[in-house]
Amino acid sequence: MNFIFTCSETGKIFETPDFTITENRGVVIDADGWRRLEARVTLDGPCPYCGQRHTYLDDEMICPFEAVLAPVERRCDVSEEENS
Ligand SMILES: [Zn+2]
Repeated sequence: MNFIFTCSETGKIFETPDFTITENRGVVIDADGWRRLEARVTLDGPCPYCGQRHTYLDDEMICPFEAVLAPVERRCDVSEEENS
């Protein structure tokens, strides 16, 4: 399953299935009442644009765990058809 990440160096967006959830504190309710997943995600491979292995908080990911855990406030532009 590909997730979409943003390169923090170049601002470019890329898709990769190579990532690991390195911290997972589970679902929390934030101050506004939204359920969110508190997690940290590290790329298993280098970023295609700058070569670094970025680490992301779940907030920085465009579409982390989709509608199950993140009902509203995230953009989810993942398209299965684009994975060719
Ligand atoms: Zn990068």
